[in-house]
Amino acid sequence: APTIGVFALQGDVREHARSLETAGAKAVAVRRPGELEAVDALVIPGGESTTMWKLAETFDLLEPLRLRIKNGMPAYGSCAGMIMLADRIEGGIEGQQTIGGIDMVVRRNAFGRQVDSFEADVDFAGRGPLRAVFIRAPWVESVGSDVEVLARAEAGDRIVAVRQGPLLATSFHPELTGDVGVHSYFVEMVREL
Ligand code: GLN
Repeated sequence: APTIGVFALQGDVREHARSLETAGAKAVAVRRPGELEAVDALVIPGGESTTMWKLAETFDLLEPLRLRIKNGMPAYGSCAGMIMLADRIEGGIEGQQTIGGIDMVVRRNAFGRQVDSFEADVDFAGRGPLRAVFIRAPWVESVGSDVEVLARAEAGDRIVAVRQGPLLATSFHPELTGDVGVHSYFVEMVREL
């Protein structure tokens, strides 16, 4: 089984680890550069992207993350993790940086405030309906030509899942439902790459 790290400085780490294990991977927490070196792939959970960015800098993980992603490590970002994998963001705080890797513009908090959190069924990667939880979720404003759109929400208007080569991102939290469809898709990606 591939060893998949979960970025564990902030966010809902346990839920992703459990979904990854159900999907057939070995899940480990990543908090230091040495732990990042040891994994085949990485999940960046939901949480708060501004805090993730600051902690990644403080714990000397931001540059190592950029380097591993530049060198082709598969990564999956959910919600705040999607923001972290975006090359460009809208609605960030002053000076907010990302890891980058996916040629897209992501709008933070696009679906509204906390009270506007909602659940919906989305057709993910043509694999049929998947239960998705949106919590102060971003959406993808625009994508470059190398980015594949895997899911849309709000009557097809909003891009909520994308893939560019070894990088996968969703606006929503699949780890909060019993449905491991997205994690299985990612584990398959990691096995193929
Ligand atoms: N709004 C959060 C952010 O900007 C993301 C919310 C989430 O991950 N559930 O980072």
